[in-house]
This record gives sequence, C-alpha cells and structure tokens, in this order.
Amino acid sequence: MIIFENNTLKLEFFISGMLQNNSYLLISKTTNNSIIIDIPDNPIELINATPKNKLQKSKNIDTIQAIITHGHYDHIEGIDFAKDRLGDINISIGLEDAKYLNYAGKVTKLKKLNKIINKDLELEIIYTPGHTAGSICFYLEIDENKFLFTGDTLFPGGPGKTVDSKSFNKIYNSITKNIYSLANETIILPGHGKSISIEESKKEFENFNFHNLLFGDISWNQ
Ligand SMILES: [Zn+2]
Repeated sequence: MIIFENNTLKLEFFISGMLQNNSYLLISKTTNNSIIIDIPDNPIELINATPKNKLQKSKNIDTIQAIITHGHYDHIEGIDFAKDRLGDINISIGLEDAKYLNYAGKVTKLKKLNKIINKDLELEIIYTPGHTAGSICFYLEIDENKFLFTGDTLFPGGPGKTVDSKSFNKIYNSITKNIYSLANETIILPGHGKSISIEESKKEFENFNFHNLLFGDISWNQ
C-alpha cells in the first residue's frame, strides 16, 4: 500500500508475519535505489516491490539497504528470505541490538551515526532506547511531509512494552525528549498497527502520570 508518492520518491508499507508486522519500503524513482525498514517473516510483497537485479544478485548490495528498528525476532525474521531473493545486502541496526541478528552479510552497527544515506535517499537516525537498548527511530522528510518510523517504541495509545522500570524510564525519556520535540504534523509509522500524528499522540499523552515504578504494557490513558 502506498503511503506517499511524488515524482522522485515512493513510500510503501506491507504487513506480514504472525504478529502482523509492518515493513516499509522507500524507493528513489531517479536512481531505483531503495531503503527497507524492518524485514518481518514472509516478506513476499516487500521483496517483490523492491527494485532489484534478479540475475546478478551480488549487485543488489550497491542499491538496496535494510535498516532495522530493533532486534526483536518479529522485525528480523524475514532476513533469510530476503537474502535468498536479493543476495547479500547491507543491514543496519542499533549497536546494542546487533546481537539479535544472525546474519553473515554486511552489518552496520548504529551508535553515533545520525543519517542513513543511500544515494539520493536520506533518513535521520533518532536513538530511542527503552523497548530494547538499541531501539532506533528513523525520520524522513519529503517536501512538506514528515514521517517517523518508530518500530515498537511508540504506537497509537502509548509506548511499546518495557521489561523493567529502568527501561520504562528510558522509553519515556526517548519519547518525550526525542520524539515529541518533532513537528506536530509528523506522521508516526509504527512496527505494528495504524499510524498517528505527533499532535494526536501528544494529546493522548497529556494526562499521563509518570512514576518511577511503571513498566510492561503501558497505555497513556491509564
Ligand atoms: Zn519489539
């Protein structure tokens, strides 16, 4: 399904896997280069839609980059399938989450880098630890349109699951400092389910009472 399209770019999303994961595909119409965001299980539509060299798979490493929002299995389960169809491609993931990957190809571990660039495609990296230590969001601006790929860090209704109160403190800081500081019209594109604007998300958050002992499945309206 197409989220956005103009003369130079196309942004699409796909749903696959047992947990109904979203994956996203950004394509440059000028160079045919692409950036894949998350590779869930059974990513047939995603891989079919990715511009590729079918005969010389080894060339795909020059044009296709995959970036992973975090290392939980449902966001990386389709990597072997992708490797089979596309050959070795470069996969970028947060440094602390790289341990979840079982990929023999080229892996870029993100820690200080602030941009993902693939020719004329560019995404800003926003480090948002909490759901996992290496959770990352990717920010995309096209013309007047602003998108934030949040993985499992922020959904409509609240943050992603956290395993202890220390992690919840982290995700809370990540969201309030690094995500809610973005423009209100920015569209949040999460790892599962529907999108929401930053403005709508901030409204949901308005009456949330933070305290130090919270963690788990937290909703902004509890
Ligand atoms: Zn997750």
